[in-house]
Amino acid sequence: MMDLVISDKVHDESRQGEALLLEPVAGKNNGRKLYIESYGCAMNFSDSEIVASILSEKGFETTTDYTNADVIFINTCSIRENAETRVRNRLKEFKVAKSKNPGMVVGVLGCMAERLKAKFLEEEKLVDVVVGPDAYRDLPNLIDQVDSGQKAVNVLLSREETYADISPVRLNSNGINAFVSIMRGCDNMCSFCVVPFTRGRERSRDAISIVNECTDLFEKGYREVTLLGQNVDSYKWQPHPTLPGREGVEKASGEGQVSPTGGDLEGAGETVNFANLLELVAQINPDLRVRFSTSHPKDITDEVLYTIARYDNICNYIHLPVQSGNSRVLELMNRTYDREWYINRIDAIRRIIPGCAISTDVITGFCTETDEEHKETVSMMEYVQYDFAYMFMYSERPGTLAAKRYADDIPETVKAARLTEIVALQQKYSLVRLQAQIGKVQKVLIEGFSKKSKNDYCGRTDQNAMMVFPVDERYKPGMYVNVLAERSTTATLMGTIVG
Ligand code: SAM
Ligand code: SF4
Repeated sequence: MMDLVISDKVHDESRQGEALLLEPVAGKNNGRKLYIESYGCAMNFSDSEIVASILSEKGFETTTDYTNADVIFINTCSIRENAETRVRNRLKEFKVAKSKNPGMVVGVLGCMAERLKAKFLEEEKLVDVVVGPDAYRDLPNLIDQVDSGQKAVNVLLSREETYADISPVRLNSNGINAFVSIMRGCDNMCSFCVVPFTRGRERSRDAISIVNECTDLFEKGYREVTLLGQNVDSYKWQPHPTLPGREGVEKASGEGQVSPTGGDLEGAGETVNFANLLELVAQINPDLRVRFSTSHPKDITDEVLYTIARYDNICNYIHLPVQSGNSRVLELMNRTYDREWYINRIDAIRRIIPGCAISTDVITGFCTETDEEHKETVSMMEYVQYDFAYMFMYSERPGTLAAKRYADDIPETVKAARLTEIVALQQKYSLVRLQAQIGKVQKVLIEGFSKKSKNDYCGRTDQNAMMVFPVDERYKPGMYVNVLAERSTTATLMGTIVG
């Protein structure tokens, strides 16, 4: 199965299988080494940081060499069949390492663990621990269980767990951008999607802990946070009037002032919605860029759009997955919006935030999709002219509504041909979008050296376009610079600092 992706940061192909390396926690060393690698979306990478944080508190050191690890964890993705195949192949490589070191503990975490549960232990004999995304606090006990000679499984899903109190460790990041989970799970039942089954019910994290984490990141030098959730627009958190720490919300919204919702946070605990949360995070400091993903077309409100427009540091970039441009297919997908609704949301973005970049996700060859219906996806892409797109062939996932109700009846060759067509179209629009920036000056946050040369810096524009430009010693990573865009490929702008 083939997936073609024009990448941005939330599902970063170049990070798939990346291993996490941390500095040891002073005074806590149990002499054991943890190797953890991650697959899938940014949420999984963020979860691996939580896992590493829990285990480093127990004295584990991290290593990037699995052959010399005592514990190997693989944090998995189930979204498409090929994501699971990749993990199975990787486990074969771990088998060799384990045969040389029989005491090694091998654990499978994340969505595949949740989907397959104890079956994993039967199917993959080398696996000792299977842990779902809501059970990471139990990992130290589960490792103890394996040490005492048993296999261990915890795949309980929770309605409350948000790991709000665990501050994730981010030591192999660039120290400039960080992902911050604001919610977990998903209550939408898109018929193609396994996420509601693997990540459980939607729950929003305490806004105070989010604001505190982002403030802490800013104080440590980070200059960009991406707020993560499967459907950020349904974020909703109710402060409890008697809970300690409420002053965090008040501080973030200005001491003694009204809250972003216009109400008084001294009251009985006013609900914080996504627009309010964005505002609270944006108010931490004008030099902290705020991004977010993913927005759901059914839930993104004008209030959110006006909030983005009001704050210079909330980036003008919205990831708004369309999945299909045809209303019948959208209904089969249970997306709960139709073509007209989606176009209305696009028009609202263009009206309220002129120049806002928009990206999307598209699935080709969903059950019963006709050529005519596929053409409506094409015409939607022509209408919106997306800046980026993640494009996938439909992959039937066991247990989903679509797998139960509809036949996966579009031949792989047809799915692939439709995918090839839209990828070519998207490449054209990505180029058009970037070329429209040529001759303009963009504010860029320097993220580090470019992958290709230490003589060049790279960083993103407000609209999330990657810009590469020659190093100027006066400016360091983490600083903002104005860069004149001079040339582009389909994915990158090239320019020169002008101040
Ligand atoms: N919550 C986000 C949303 O609603 O758009 C994204 C969730 S999912 C991790 C990312 C993307 O994977 C989806 O938007 C969809 O395009 C794609 N996807 C999910 N299930 C799929 C499947 N069974 N086959 C192909 N693509 C799939
Ligand atoms: Fe999956 Fe739909 Fe939830 Fe996104 S909104 S995670 S596609 S069920």
